Amino acid sequence: MSNPHKPIFRIVDTHIQVIHPFFASLCLPPSHPSASHDGSYGTVDPMHLSISFASFIRQLKLSRRSFRLLCPPPDPNPRQSVSRLSPRQWNFFWSLTLSTSTRNIWFRLLHNSLSSASILHAIIPSFVASPECRLCGHSNQTPEHFLVECPLVWQVWTMTMHRLIPHWRAQPSTILRAFYALALPPSPPHIDSYHVLDGVLAAVWKAYWRTIFDDVPFVPANVVVSVNKSLQFFFQSSHLLD
Ligand SMILES: [Zn+2]
Repeated sequence: MSNPHKPIFRIVDTHIQVIHPFFASLCLPPSHPSASHDGSYGTVDPMHLSISFASFIRQLKLSRRSFRLLCPPPDPNPRQSVSRLSPRQWNFFWSLTLSTSTRNIWFRLLHNSLSSASILHAIIPSFVASPECRLCGHSNQTPEHFLVECPLVWQVWTMTMHRLIPHWRAQPSTILRAFYALALPPSPPHIDSYHVLDGVLAAVWKAYWRTIFDDVPFVPANVVVSVNKSLQFFFQSSHLLD
């Protein structure tokens, strides 16, 4: 049987088609430290190939059988999603009027695909050399640490929750339950409690990446100011409706 990968690598070698940087490490010998494969090329998703090599695929006239040959065998130990949401809970999640940024962050959290240092380090160790938290130095920045448990981030949560929902005893576990099980805190006057979660999540996310990319220090009090600004919109809207 002919190797179905050969025509692809021939057309890359002759520079007829330029591959996206994403595939570069796949073309390295397995012994290379940056190589992200074991030599079998079994991790290349054929759908990605068909997108990146769209013009080439048309020339190749990829049949269904050869497409299937390019597909890696099913993972015998598929990664479990951390999401325990029922269809009803998903409907509730989609009914929340969240900002686009927060919905994206929350959705990725539910699917264990948030770009925390621990996950990025596992996927691309050549770019993210350590799973360590860049804010507090904790050895493993899990998604939960990133968004809630990090001491600096937790200061943002406590300041915000103490001011807006003081009668609810916020703990890292209760905040995480709000995200993972949609067990939302009681709503303060004039706004829904998920707007508070939305404001904190978006502000923490933005401040964190400004620290990483722009070296802007993560100062919890400043992040709380951003949270309050974003929540002003909801407070003003509710007054207009009164
Ligand atoms: Zn931390």
